[in-house]
Formats: sequence, C-alpha cells, structure tokens
Amino acid sequence: MGDVETFAFQAEINQLLSLIINTFYSNKEIFLRELISNCSDALDKIRFEGLTDKSKLETQPELYIHIVPDKTNNTLSIVDSGIGMTKADLVNNLGTIARSGTKAFMEALTAGADISMIGQFGVGFYSAYLVAEKVVVYTKHNDDEEYCWESQAGGSFTVRKDASENLGRGTKIVLHLKEDQLEYLEERRIKDLVKKHSEFISYPISLWTEKTTEKEVEDDDEEEDKEDDEEGKVEEIGDEDAEKKEKKTKKVKEVSHEWSLMNKQKPVWMRPPDEITRDEYAAFYKSLTNDWEEHLAVKHFAVEGQLEFKSILFVPKRAPFDLFDGKKKANNIKLYVRRVFIMDNCEEIIPEFLSFVKGVVDSEDLPLNISREMLQQNKILKVIRKNIVKKCIEMFTEIAENKEDYAKFYEAFAKNIKLGVHEDSQNRAKLAELLRYHSTKSGEEMTSLKDYVTRMKENQKDIYYITGETRKAVENSPFIERLKKKGYEVLYMCDPIDEYAVQQLKEYDGKKLVCCTKEGLKLEMSEDEKKQAEEQKAQFESLCRLMKDILGDKVEKVLVSDRVVDSPCVLVTGEYGWSANMERIMKAQALRDNSMSSYMASKKTLEINPNNGIMGELRRRAEADKSDKTVKDLVLLLFETSLLASGFTLDDPNVFASRIHRMIRLGLSIDDDVADLGDDDVDDLPPLEEDDAAAGSMEEVD
Ligand code: ADP
Repeated sequence: MGDVETFAFQAEINQLLSLIINTFYSNKEIFLRELISNCSDALDKIRFEGLTDKSKLETQPELYIHIVPDKTNNTLSIVDSGIGMTKADLVNNLGTIARSGTKAFMEALTAGADISMIGQFGVGFYSAYLVAEKVVVYTKHNDDEEYCWESQAGGSFTVRKDASENLGRGTKIVLHLKEDQLEYLEERRIKDLVKKHSEFISYPISLWTEKTTEKEVEDDDEEEDKEDDEEGKVEEIGDEDAEKKEKKTKKVKEVSHEWSLMNKQKPVWMRPPDEITRDEYAAFYKSLTNDWEEHLAVKHFAVEGQLEFKSILFVPKRAPFDLFDGKKKANNIKLYVRRVFIMDNCEEIIPEFLSFVKGVVDSEDLPLNISREMLQQNKILKVIRKNIVKKCIEMFTEIAENKEDYAKFYEAFAKNIKLGVHEDSQNRAKLAELLRYHSTKSGEEMTSLKDYVTRMKENQKDIYYITGETRKAVENSPFIERLKKKGYEVLYMCDPIDEYAVQQLKEYDGKKLVCCTKEGLKLEMSEDEKKQAEEQKAQFESLCRLMKDILGDKVEKVLVSDRVVDSPCVLVTGEYGWSANMERIMKAQALRDNSMSSYMASKKTLEINPNNGIMGELRRRAEADKSDKTVKDLVLLLFETSLLASGFTLDDPNVFASRIHRMIRLGLSIDDDVADLGDDDVDDLPPLEEDDAAAGSMEEVD
C-alpha cells in the first residue's frame, strides 16, 4: 500500500455532497442506475480505443459489469472492466474539479428539481452517497497502476496506491451501505432495479448470486459414522443390512455462488418497431439520456439500399440546461457500427441546430476501426446525416399534428428550428412550415405561416412582420399603424434569432416577407389615396428638405410616410441593412465588429406623417421662417424620440434627457434663472429660443 494523500473536495462538490446526504429524499434507488451508467461509459471508452489498438484490450479482453452484494460486510460493489482511471483522473474527476453541472444541479434542486435528475447534470457518481456512508473506489487504467480512492464525504477524500484488488483494468466501486439501506443487498431488489433502470445497457450486467441447494447426502452423523465404519469393515462382505445402512441419506443445504445475467442486451433498434411498446421506447430513452421524464416523440426507422443503417431518434420534453452552451460537446447521437458502440460525440452525424435530438444510429457500412479524421470526410456519414435531418423534420411535423405537444415542443426548441432555417438552405422550406408566431390576429395562440397565408387579404402580396424586443413593444409600434388599420396581419418576431432566420428565409410560398420597420414596405393604395399621397408629398417637400438639413448625417433621407397613422414620425432602416432590433442585438453582443456595425447600421430614413398635427404645425412654421430656431430644436427632439419609439438606443441619453427637462421647464413656465443649482447641462445645450413659441408646440404634442 502506498502513501495516503488527502485532498479537499472542491467547494461546490462539497456543497453538493452535503445536499445529497442531508436532503430528505426517498427515491434513493437511482444511485445504481447512475453507477451502472458510468460503468457503461467506461466500457464504451475502452472498446473504442480497442478498435484501433487491440493491445489496449489485452489486459482484460472481456467487457462486463459485475454487481456483488456482501451481506457479511454490508457492502455493495459495482465492478466494470472499462477504461479505468489514472491517479490524475481519480483526483480530478472525483472531487477536485467541478463541472458546470455541479452548480446547475444545485440550483435546479433549489428550484424544485428532483435528485433523480442528477445524471443529466453530469455528477451522477455522487449519488452513491444517497445510500452509502463510505465509498471506496479501486481503479486501474492501462497507463497507470491500481489506485484506491476513499471518502466518507465530510470535506475530503484520500487517494493511495493499492493493488489489493488486482483489477487488471477497470473500476470497482465499493459502497459501505448506511444501516437503513441494506435492502440494496437483496438479490430481488437489485434485479428489479437493473430491469427497471438499466435494461438497455449494452454490456452484460451480472449479479453475484448466492444459491442454496438442498442436496441429498449420506447421513453421516458423526457417531453413527464411526460405528458404521467400524462395523462396515467387518460386515462388508455379503451383509445386505450394511448396504441399506449406507444408502441412508439426509438433506443438507449447500451454498454456492454464481453469476446471474440480468439484462438482455438485444438492441432495441434491431427489433421491428411494431413489436416495441411505448413503455419500452421510454425505458430505452431514459437509459440513453439519463432523462427522468419520458420522450415527447420517437422515430424508429431503417434505411436500406445502397447504404444500410437503423436508427431511433427521440425528442425530449424539455431543453437541457446547457442547450446552447458552446463549450459542451455534442453527445446526443450514439454511433454504432454493426452493434459495436463507436462514439457518442460524432459532430458530423447531426447538424448543430438538431443538437437536442437524442438517439442511436447503427451503420452496416462504416468500417469498425474508423477514426475521427476519417469521419470528417466520410461519404457514408454524409448520407446518414442527410437522412437523419430528414427524419427529424418528419418527426417534428408529426408532433405538430397535436397542438398541445407542439406547443411544448416549440417552447423548448423554437430557437433550434429558427437556427435551422438560418443554416440549412436545403431544408429551409420544410423548416419554415414549423415556425409559429404571434401576430396582430393570432390572439394568445401562435400562427403558422401557412395559416397566415390563408388569412391574407385579396390584394395582399407580401407577408408582413415586425421585429422587436418584446411582444408588447411591437404590438404598439408606430410602424404597424397603417397595416393594422387596413386589416393586414403582421407577425411579431421577438426572438433575437428571428432576425437571422428571416434574413435567410426571405419568402414563404412565393410570398415575400416584408419587414414593417424597413424600407420597401409598399401598401396597395386606391386611386384616391395615391392622389392624396402625391399632394402631401408635394406639400411637405420643403419641410423634408429642411429636416434633412437639420439632422445632417443622422439620417439618410427624410420622406413622407405611408405607414404611420397616429405617430408624427418613424425611423426606417434600409431594406437590406439591420433593423433597429438587429442593431440592438448586435450592440449587445460583445464580439461585435465595429466597422461592420457602422456600415450595416448607418442608413436610417426618417418618415414623417403628414396627417399628424405636429408635422402640420412644423411645416407652417418652417414655411413662415426658414431659420426658426424652435423648428430646429423640435426636429432634433422629434428625431430622438422616434429613435426610441422605433426601437433604437440613444447614443447620448443625457442630452436627450436635458432636452426633455428643458421642455418640462417651459411647460411649467419655470425661468432658466431659477434653474436648480448644479444643473450644468442646461448651459451646454443648444438653447430653445422663443420660449413662448416652444411652449405652444408643446401643447400640440399633448
Ligand atoms: P459523468 O459520468 O456524467 O461524467 P459522474 O459524476 O458520474 O459524471 O462521473 C464523473 C467522472 O468520473 C466521469 O466522467 C468519469 O471520467 C469518471 N468515472 C466515474 N465512474 C467511472 C468508472 N466506473 N470508470 C471510469 N471512470 C469513471
């Protein structure tokens, strides 16, 4: 035995251990599922390494999981011949390095999650402390000697070199059960648990069982024995009585041990789908994913012909806690080749936007010893991937047939569908069918694009949408005033990713998607309306020019609008540039490229509403006196206000605030002389001249 080193558990892990030990929790049985699942992972790893380097398996060619209850010592051992851990692995994996899941799991628990969810957070090992007061882990990795880890929780663990188990390769976890958890030594209980939680583990799980057989043995009572022996010698020859005596037997109990195999290991995906029940799929799904809930949908299929593979794909009911965590490796589709597990983090097998889909793929064609590098350009894998995407979309479309299920699905995975619309040009049209939005006409439900089209007005050519931060913000946006008034439906797109998706989608069912906050919104007008618009354009031409002069580079153009009904003006962006919402999103992104944003965000057009009283009055004043300073100030104020109302942010909110304060002073008829002491900003501002006149305009605003 080597020196014993003591390590402190990393703080969060320590907290987690306390939680596990001290929380009252009755469903403790899940510990076995977690530990068996770790064994299976460790076996997967060594089997994979063995595919390219056979010598790695030599230390222990058999791949198995053994469970050994010991009623004398009250221990339950779980043994695997998997990859094992080096000393460094032991120290890092079992105690000193916390994963993102450690904290996330504790937060989830506080929020009402269940301890049985532990596996999803990648800290399943610690569930051993639900039933054990002490855990001892013996482990042997090909690259290191056998080590022993031991802990009774309480803040620390020890690691020492210890070859006593002679493992060859693999890991043995010895649970010293708490006094009230001895039920886990019972064969029946263990067998039921394995059947319930670990049936689909693809390695043999055997239980060390005790067998008591009653055996007929010669009645060799000691006293008689002696007599018999003595007499026997004498009476042996020809004495029938003696023979009868010898045949006298009694029953004795004989205790023997043997391994009893507990799982079938026949892969579910190899069986015909119509023979598999929903419960079986659910059990398989749970064992595959560590999910505590059943799947939402399943697709089990075989592809035959030039290329052959079988697959089962699942959609979970919820998004995982780390769905869009860039650092997380994708490990959702397990890749098998002719029943042999190859890997569960093959990025080439499914695109990122489908990273929430779980399942297995078993190929007949890929070579067994395939390396990661080969996978990257493998043609077979490309075909498999294409088929998987197709089947996933089919599965989503099936979910959409049930409103309730689809609402659940969409709440969890709408972002993924939108990412798909953005990235997958081949399947864009099909994915577009899966989009749902709130709209001016959808009420509390969401509408599909297909349903939108059925409601389009006779003369309506385009599909209208507006993007913004929240539904509330877009519902009352000045941009959709005219559309609403005319009865055109407008889709609300309030997810940052909508901006990206819609840029790529461009059209649906031959109808252009038109953004209400950008240039290019053309509404059908009657002859009368057209005539009126022309007249107004002419009337306001000089004001437009004046406003452009005042605003300078702040705007590209000033035009008479046909999209606003009530508001005095709005700021419209270029058809191919960023919307206000996109500008907001980009500003919020730390990685934004400044040169790009100045280019993309530069073109704003101020559209004025000729029917609004403010505009009318401004026009009158501007025509009366081109150099009216009030007009200049009010134009600036109008511009800044429409920045806000149109969803932009202000470059300098203080200047804007001061301008407003100035107006408030005017409204309250407070003299500049009685300004608060210390309100220095006032002096730095462009003055609002002719206070009376400005106050007059204020009334108009009201
Ligand atoms: P997870 O298995 O989800 O990563 P766990 O807390 O269950 O999280 O296990 C932590 C780590 O300890 C594993 O990632 C693995 O590296 C190691 N480990 C646990 N059990 C075994 C085992 N039986 N054989 C080899 N390594 C193991």
